[in-house]
Amino acid sequence: MFPYNYHTHTRRCGHASGDDEEYVLAAIKAGYKVLGFSDHAPYRDYPHKGSHMDIEDFAGYIESIHSLKEKYKDQIQIRIGLESEYYPYCLEERKLLLKDLDYMLLGQHYDHPSGKGVNYFKENSDEEILIYANSVAQAVDTGIYSYLCHPDVFMNQQTAFTPACEEAAHIIGKACEKNHLPVELNVRGIMKGKKPFANGDQYWYPHKDFWRILAKYDVKAVVGIDAHSPEDLLQTGFIDEGLKELEDLHLHFITEPFI
Ligand SMILES: [Zn+2]
Ligand SMILES: [Zn+2]
Repeated sequence: MFPYNYHTHTRRCGHASGDDEEYVLAAIKAGYKVLGFSDHAPYRDYPHKGSHMDIEDFAGYIESIHSLKEKYKDQIQIRIGLESEYYPYCLEERKLLLKDLDYMLLGQHYDHPSGKGVNYFKENSDEEILIYANSVAQAVDTGIYSYLCHPDVFMNQQTAFTPACEEAAHIIGKACEKNHLPVELNVRGIMKGKKPFANGDQYWYPHKDFWRILAKYDVKAVVGIDAHSPEDLLQTGFIDEGLKELEDLHLHFITEPFI
């Protein structure tokens, strides 16, 4: 088992369930040494209910996790983070938030903080996929993120791994190698099960064709549950499924807590 999980959401984002303390209790039960909270980061001008926390909830988030950190310090180490997109015009705002955090993860779900533009979680055109990859590359260059969540999230809802997907994998692999940024095997993707592709059934993410390219680069891999409920933290069998899927790629996984 991996003794860490840095990818954990809370109810504040509008699409996760459970109290903060229930996540901690589940993580203790699952046997984690380190639990990192990384709820979807707020944007000052964009409340966007249902996709990320409101800026008004940020102080309460920090306070709640801090008090749990103290309360359970003899049983588990708790870290406070956020999962955030990268938008060039929000970079300074991100850096300000980072002052109160142990870490920030990069999770590029949209191309605009309003959530009204391109959604990389839906089916995307080749052009949109390349915009995603180039945004990730730019984000990685900022140096503010501790790892890249679900690097292949754009495969969610895709029906084919096109030459643009291939190019995206190279852009992302190159950027992460250059900046020594780990990439995440996202367990939530495994939970969705396999879908039919031209070369057989595959997960949308982690998508084997994507990771086959990523494995050519000198990048480390980490495991992230992407928990949206306390119960998700107990679903460790899905980690084994994901590892088995990528086994023959001989990826270098970080096996100890690193934040
Ligand atoms: Zn989420
Ligand atoms: Zn997440």
